[in-house]
Amino acid sequence: DVDRLSDLEKLQVLGHGNGGTVYKVRHRRTGAFYALKIVQSDCDSSIRRQILREMDILRRTDSPYVVRCHGIFEKSCGDIGIVMEYMDGGTLDCLLRRQSGTCSEDFLAGITRQVLEGLSYLHSHKIVHRDIKPSNLLVNRKMEIKIADFGVSKIMCRTLDACDSFVGTCAYMSPERFDPDTYGGAYDGYAGDIWSLGLTLLELYIGHFPFLPPGQRPDWATLMCAICFGDPPSLPETASDEFRSFINCCLQKESSRRWTVAQLLAHPFVA
Ligand code: ADP
Ligand code: MG
Repeated sequence: DVDRLSDLEKLQVLGHGNGGTVYKVRHRRTGAFYALKIVQSDCDSSIRRQILREMDILRRTDSPYVVRCHGIFEKSCGDIGIVMEYMDGGTLDCLLRRQSGTCSEDFLAGITRQVLEGLSYLHSHKIVHRDIKPSNLLVNRKMEIKIADFGVSKIMCRTLDACDSFVGTCAYMSPERFDPDTYGGAYDGYAGDIWSLGLTLLELYIGHFPFLPPGQRPDWATLMCAICFGDPPSLPETASDEFRSFINCCLQKESSRRWTVAQLLAHPFVA
């Protein structure tokens, strides 16, 4: 692991997020590359809360399907630095753009299996990610896919506080997050990650966000109506029966009818 932030040399910016900036860095002594997320101390309190959540979860997780953390540092100025394993292929949404807008089924089956393994690990450790989407799934040269960005994740305890449920990217939020009375069933939060996974895979196959025509920017009201009142999106006829069935199992509006990670891992599309 990394002992000091000063051992790391900043090479370039990898991405900007809500709370901070992620840099590609090199360890001066070993030459190893890492990703370093820096969150400034003068950020507002909601961002501060996010980063503390993220730190808490990264400290607890140890899975090949979840981006690894190699150290957390707090500078004297109050800035926080999180050293993570460097994923040299970037995010799945960048990859989608590089692949001229769509991904093949075989390729997606491989991705799906790994994201399910990651979710299986998280859910068995009582962690709900709550922000699964292409830009939070990282890929490397070995074609390993890892779940990243735990800023709005939650460690489940016995009760779910309702006021806490509007976090994450609205676009990928499941119907029960908007309307728990209608779609909640036995609402436990985990099923929301499955919905987001279904939307993510659909997007990677068709090349645009499923609830909107290509190129249209999402607006909150239209989206919420589409998610809550419309039929769930599904794959075009060109996809295989296995893939179409898999997506249908993820995109059940009623959360209790959605398959769990364990069930999906045995689905013919990935099994
Ligand atoms: P935010 O909460 O601000 O969205 P993320 O953790 O998603 O923060 O990081 C923002 C961006 O930085 C990502 O979309 C990605 O482009 C890049 N990034 C983050 N972590 C890594 C990593 N471990 N390896 C490579 N790139 C990363
Ligand atoms: Mg992100």
